[in-house]
Amino acid sequence: MGEHLQRYREHTGKISSLGQIAALIDWDQQTYMPAGAAGARSEQIGVLSELIHSLSTSSEAGDLLKHAEDEVAGSDPDSPEARMVSVGRKNYDRSIKLPADLVSEISRHCASAISVWEEAREKSDFSLFAPALKKTFDLTKQAAEYLGYTDHIYDALIDQYEPGSTQASVKSMFANLVPHLVKLNAGIANAPQVDDSPIRGSFSVPQQRAFTLDIASRLGYDLNRGRQDETAHPFCTSFSKYDVRITTRYDEQFLQQGLYATLHEAGHAMYEQGVPDEWQGTPIGGAASLGIHESQSRLWENQVGRSRAFANWIFPHLKAAFPGSSADTPEAFYRAVNKSEPSFIRVEADEVTYNLHIALRFELECALLSGELAVKDLPAAWNEKMQAYLGITPPDNALGVLQDVHWAIGLIGYFPTYSIGNLVSAQLWNSAETVIPDLTGKIQRGEFAPLLAWLNQNVHAHAARFLPHEVVQLATGAPLDPAHYVKYLFGKYSDIYGLSL
Ligand code: ZN
Repeated sequence: MGEHLQRYREHTGKISSLGQIAALIDWDQQTYMPAGAAGARSEQIGVLSELIHSLSTSSEAGDLLKHAEDEVAGSDPDSPEARMVSVGRKNYDRSIKLPADLVSEISRHCASAISVWEEAREKSDFSLFAPALKKTFDLTKQAAEYLGYTDHIYDALIDQYEPGSTQASVKSMFANLVPHLVKLNAGIANAPQVDDSPIRGSFSVPQQRAFTLDIASRLGYDLNRGRQDETAHPFCTSFSKYDVRITTRYDEQFLQQGLYATLHEAGHAMYEQGVPDEWQGTPIGGAASLGIHESQSRLWENQVGRSRAFANWIFPHLKAAFPGSSADTPEAFYRAVNKSEPSFIRVEADEVTYNLHIALRFELECALLSGELAVKDLPAAWNEKMQAYLGITPPDNALGVLQDVHWAIGLIGYFPTYSIGNLVSAQLWNSAETVIPDLTGKIQRGEFAPLLAWLNQNVHAHAARFLPHEVVQLATGAPLDPAHYVKYLFGKYSDIYGLSL
């Protein structure tokens, strides 16, 4: 590696370390920090963010990048060195395009909008939140204009979370997905319902803590470089690949929540633990995108964790940990964890209905950005789409348009990454199944290492060297195709619900 690239890497390494320190104090805030420290902590986070921003956008950063670019010019454009520089260029250009006063106006506005949203949700009163939401969209539109786009204003926003995706690509993805999901959901609604009592009852929290962590480590989550704690909203956070932590939450009466949140977050964590050592701290040292990240969590949660093979494997462990559980066969457990039912809240949605919640949000975001929809008309538009897609209408706005924090904190253009992750997970699973002999049998015997090794080699090892669509192409030999997910869902749910669709 040349001298200029080395100097550039030292600079990005410093920024990356500061980002990890910021993540660590954020983790602390969400887990163990005493409530009285909130003011001091937000000051500390503010100082770190400013420092990161100024180091990332300094003229020194620009010069180091320019010299590194000159040095790698002419080398293979797909080489790690060339990609380090091209990804670094994209990040740098994006951060200097936004004027500092707009960035601070957005962060000030969002800091106050979140408490407005909390109150509005509490009172289920959209009119309280509407002015703040309108301002969030106005500021986001300004930011998108600075960032630039060719076809649709949405392109500037989604590219931050899912590089290479556009409004058109997401629209076409949903066009090939939504009609199938609506049909499957309607079929399930008219079929005899599944009994989920085997995962309801009394499951002591200390016992769940030990059980879920044991399962996560058997999947391959390395506890020598990780740990699990409890928070209101489960998440995964990384302070280098040597310290990747997950959180979960438990419901004493419902085993599904803690167990599947753990499988999900462990999937995220195994991705972070699997990125190459030598790219740590560089622009290609992290995840390819949020969608690819979500494909890893969803694959372990659903393709593995909600499979019949997994139910057969986990059943004796479950009975040993919770002898009082009413699940009397692996099949009863399998059916219970795959119960599908339209619900108002996205985060509680099952595999069939989840992506309908996302399609709805994507369509509303596009309409708000283009001006086709006014903020004041949002609740009605929300309820109309809920009825059209899921066949239910929220009784109030807390269970409808006010449920997600995303818009309150300015995350617009983010939701589709969840659906991209779901679709990628099914496509990856199909490829893994063709390459790994007897994958289902292996899962049934608790042999998870071959699957993790395949993911490690075909997804994790690329980190952010390749764009998300390139990762999918490399790992599966084809572009992202919703047909894999549709086939997976129709196969599984036709069997469970006895449908012939
Ligand atoms: Zn996730």
